[in-house]
Amino acid sequence: MENKEDLLKKIISHSKEYGFIFPSSEIYDGLSAAYDYGQLGVELKKNIRDYWWKSMVHAHENIHGLDASIFMHPTTWKASGHVDAFNDPLIDNKDSKKRYRADVLLEEFMEKIRGKIKKEVVKAAKRFGESFEEAMFVKTNPRVVKYQEQIKMIEDRMRDCLDSNDLEGIKTLIEELQIADPVSGSRNWTEVRQFNLMFSTELGSLADGASKIYLRPETAQGIFVNFLNVYKSGRAKLPFGIAQTGKAFRNEIIARQFIFRMREFEQMEMQYFVKPGEELKWYEHWKEKRMKWHQALGFGAEAYRFHDHIKLAHYANAACDIEFDFPMGFKELEGIHSRTDFDLKSHEEHSGKKLQYFDHESNTSYVPYVVETSIGLDRMFLAVLTAAYKEEKLEDGSSRTMLKIPAFLAPYKLAILPLVKKDGLPELARKILHDLQLDFHCQYDEKDSIGKRYRRQDAIGTPFAITIDHDSLEDDMVTLRKRDTMEQSRIPISSLRQELSGRISMTDVIRKSL
Ligand code: ATP
Repeated sequence: MENKEDLLKKIISHSKEYGFIFPSSEIYDGLSAAYDYGQLGVELKKNIRDYWWKSMVHAHENIHGLDASIFMHPTTWKASGHVDAFNDPLIDNKDSKKRYRADVLLEEFMEKIRGKIKKEVVKAAKRFGESFEEAMFVKTNPRVVKYQEQIKMIEDRMRDCLDSNDLEGIKTLIEELQIADPVSGSRNWTEVRQFNLMFSTELGSLADGASKIYLRPETAQGIFVNFLNVYKSGRAKLPFGIAQTGKAFRNEIIARQFIFRMREFEQMEMQYFVKPGEELKWYEHWKEKRMKWHQALGFGAEAYRFHDHIKLAHYANAACDIEFDFPMGFKELEGIHSRTDFDLKSHEEHSGKKLQYFDHESNTSYVPYVVETSIGLDRMFLAVLTAAYKEEKLEDGSSRTMLKIPAFLAPYKLAILPLVKKDGLPELARKILHDLQLDFHCQYDEKDSIGKRYRRQDAIGTPFAITIDHDSLEDDMVTLRKRDTMEQSRIPISSLRQELSGRISMTDVIRKSL
């Protein structure tokens, strides 16, 4: 697909048309950045969550699951640093009245320069042909070197300003670089201000004396406050992990780009507790493992890249993102952070409880270090749709829209299609449906021509379809059609279950990813 802007629009309308994602409370004109998952979306989302859960929890003896509550004691967020430091620097454009994250404006500016470097490389590769050495070219071409210096200058100044909370400095940098509002082109900016991203609400009725609590902005803290519970009740030994999936809430300054940035979203997080001093080894381990998990989906290695953080969060001693090539370009899909002992130590201080591990080998107690992997389920959903959405021209001149979702993630695994609505075909089709539907999510469809029904299944990503025709009544065989190749073959009804199991196995993919 050439035009990526278009791709996002197409995904949004396709998602709505087929029941993957609807705007929230649409009959009241919607609520910005809130979305509802429809009948197909909820299946895809669940399958992605299962893929993560099985890979992290079931595939590792030493990773334990958890489902902590969304509401937590308010001191949790003092200890975690979210009350004081969970801020984004925001800036408004006075002409367009649009609000932006100042750091994102700078990141996007740098991304444009990176785009220019790429163009130079492509041009030179064409000019030099076979003798082209990219690494050498990038080091020596004066124009490319200048671009790289500019990126480095921006990165350094941005990091210094963010580290020292120098909001004036960020504004100066935006002005010096002459960054314009992407919507209006105006350079008329307000001051940069800090904005806390946590939603608060009141616990209890007012008469009881209400107290302010927060909707959790990440699931991680539910894991930290349960460290001791899981460690003791699970008889866990270092290194061990605690994993959970669940909703998180952030009052994002700019929530756009569909389900990429929402105010209510779902996270899948795993905190890995390790011996102090071993954290960087485990950080590298999880970096590699998580990348393999993504790549096992078969969307191509070029769709992912690592991005090291310029500004480390207050709790981290190493951090990177796995970025995915979304329709809006490469953006964060997952974060991997070496969080040191910051969280557990801080909870010790604020709670007065010891959150330590007793090491039988050294006969000492200490606060473990933590490596975190944190991925947004909704972002992962968008990544899958982005990679899966295909428009194909067919040999007969017609075209089809297809979601090439990996079979084990697809909302329906099998479409069951009687050729006609009579002569006993629907009865046989329903018999097959009842036999298979608890093992494979199946869709029965008898409306419209068979061609139209195939197209519809392609559009919702169903990897297999069977057609029941008059011969089926005689020979107990059906026609199996594959979504990706449109190849058709005749197979006995009795071997359907085995045939499908072999082709739709989450287990096989997980094994590949480990
Ligand atoms: P960003 O820089 O995009 O705001 P972040 O660095 O604040 O993200 P983390 O705090 O590391 O994100 O959260 C972990 C993961 O949660 C992210 O990689 C992303 O997949 C997901 N996530 C974070 N914020 C949102 C959001 N507003 N909507 C959807 N997913 C989100």
